[in-house]
Amino acid sequence: MDYKNILTTCVYCGTGCGLNLQVLDGRIVGVLPAAEHPLSQGRLCVKGWNAASFVYSPDRLTVPLIRRDGRLVEATWDEALTLVAQKLLRIRDESGPHALGVLTSAKCTNEENYLLQKLARAVLKTNNVDHCARLCHAPTVAGLAAAFGSGAMTNSIPEFESDTACFLIIGSNTSEAHPLIASRILKARERGARLIVIDPRETQMARLADLYLAQRPGSDVAVLNGLMQVIMEEELWDKEYVAGRTEGFDAMKAVVSGYTPERVEQLSGVPADMLRQAARMYATHKPAAIIYTMGITQHTTGTDNVKSCANLAMLTGNVGVPGGGVNPLRGQNNVQGACDVGALPNVYTGYQAVTLPAVREKFEHAWGVTGLDPHVGLTVTEMIAAAGEGKIRALYIMAENPLVSDPDLNHARQCLNDVEFLVVQDIFLTETAQLADVVLPGASFVEKDGTFTGTDRRIQRVRQAIPPLGQSKPDWQIICELARKMGALDGASGGASGGASGGASGGVSGGVSGFDFASPAEVMDEIAAVTPIYGGVHYDRLDRLGFLQWPCPTAEHSGTPYLHKERFSRGMGLFHPVEYIAPAEMADDEYPFVLTTGRSMFHWHTGSMTRRSTRLDQEVPTAYVEMHPQDAARIGLDGNRWVRIRSRRGEIQVAVRLTRRIRPGVVFMPFHFAETAANVLTHAALDPIAKIPEFKVCAVQVEAVSTEECHE
Ligand code: SF4
Repeated sequence: MDYKNILTTCVYCGTGCGLNLQVLDGRIVGVLPAAEHPLSQGRLCVKGWNAASFVYSPDRLTVPLIRRDGRLVEATWDEALTLVAQKLLRIRDESGPHALGVLTSAKCTNEENYLLQKLARAVLKTNNVDHCARLCHAPTVAGLAAAFGSGAMTNSIPEFESDTACFLIIGSNTSEAHPLIASRILKARERGARLIVIDPRETQMARLADLYLAQRPGSDVAVLNGLMQVIMEEELWDKEYVAGRTEGFDAMKAVVSGYTPERVEQLSGVPADMLRQAARMYATHKPAAIIYTMGITQHTTGTDNVKSCANLAMLTGNVGVPGGGVNPLRGQNNVQGACDVGALPNVYTGYQAVTLPAVREKFEHAWGVTGLDPHVGLTVTEMIAAAGEGKIRALYIMAENPLVSDPDLNHARQCLNDVEFLVVQDIFLTETAQLADVVLPGASFVEKDGTFTGTDRRIQRVRQAIPPLGQSKPDWQIICELARKMGALDGASGGASGGASGGASGGVSGGVSGFDFASPAEVMDEIAAVTPIYGGVHYDRLDRLGFLQWPCPTAEHSGTPYLHKERFSRGMGLFHPVEYIAPAEMADDEYPFVLTTGRSMFHWHTGSMTRRSTRLDQEVPTAYVEMHPQDAARIGLDGNRWVRIRSRRGEIQVAVRLTRRIRPGVVFMPFHFAETAANVLTHAALDPIAKIPEFKVCAVQVEAVSTEECHE
């Protein structure tokens, strides 16, 4: 018997726990925690223990599929890739590069995201490249970059346990979405750290908090401004820090001073006295860490919300110190990394702007091409809408499932139905893949090498434990083969170090090289060569050190546990004056409830992996809506367990869970369930800067459905 443990990184949340894949005779037989891992320290949450249980699911895609006569039928790799290459190039030549769109994936590795954005930009010549960060933390990237000069979590997960004196958790159900980070916070509580939770739902962390502020959904700016008003009124702010390290204070103060606790109580529902207590607790226990997730970002004011968090942290001198900072907990395993390596429409790797001529020149030289697109491309949401309008004729989607994750799903489905050519590269025939013209079977995280970058900028190895199933291939190999089909030659990879010429044939103007990588390690070498914050990241160092946290600019640099020490990435930290703006769609007489959405501990994202895990699916097999008993009485729920929820965009029927954890007037649904998709109801109104939809607030009707009517 051949038994081995393969150390790798968890595929679910952005915490980045280490786990060992148990391999017996070439087959994965279990998962064990990694005892020495710096983050998880021999522990895993329930998803981590079941991280590989979807791998042998009988409906894994193992062979390419092509749509013929309306049906997806098996094809060879050569047939599938040739069709994709010909069709994409033909549409590009007929309608221009802007008729193409590419979605990369926060589930895939850094190397795969890098290669796909490179293919989009260097071969297809479009910046229409984006991924699901648009739907979770785009405001973080925009807001923190504007305030600090870097759009990432400022501090490190272990600092929460060792250094933080006060936690302010806002818009994060930490114990369900990031359980091992929650356990660090609770350990810090044992040594006396304070905990403040601000959330519309009384989460588990709220029940354990020193102070719980139950806000109305969408009132974050009002509450954060109110905290700052009290801190300034009571002279609790850090004057020396503000004078020496920041700018824009007076403009921020002029706005914030109008947010008295009494006014904030009217706007948010948070009692004025509770707000005062929270302000005093946050300002007087240092270092204090702000922690947030999508409760802050998934709003039309998402970028404003993030800027307000940054204002509060700077006002109290809490940025640039261990245990403090502004800490967005990134959702998916590699959403941080996908952003870092350029899977965004406005930047190349390391957040280098596509609009800067010098940056474009650098990448043209590195990739051996000319004519890179000088314009910012379309976002996920804009690409889907443009597909419906006929402006995007072809979409290439790698391991994303917009037909569950996008807002206003009825409209999204219509758009994807209308697109002329849809390619989906995935491990399962997801709801989106079922509409595709070509389906390319990728390999799961246990079948390939690579790296993920966790929420605290921690780059870690992903290691292959078994060969890809059937004819499936690692996504990085598929992209390289497709690039070559499009005429990209096998010329000098690592063009970054001197520019490769390698003439092109088969339709690529300008010549493309650098798709002849023998391994993901070589791809990372190229990323390091073109990306200053990853400049010192190489596989030999990762294997030796276990991880590196960016910025890590050189091979001698040991990485950066916390950002903005002594100076901000942009020099001075910048305060922004931020006024409260109400959500785009409020409850009214016709739609009297507010729907807010979020995660369940047992599922992840669109459920394509967790719902194929027997253990996880047994825990929460179907969707549900949480409702306050007062509201149940108001709609006459009586003994019924089902309701019909209707918004201006669609309707669903779903089982009810009565709970006092939620405010009256607000209902909550998890978003993982395709057959009862909360996003049928949600609103596609966008944050004007980050273009994130307002998933967290929409107006709905709720009515009781008799057992005979329900679809149970
Ligand atoms: Fe995986 Fe996140 Fe759970 Fe850790 S906390 S085991 S990374 S899902």
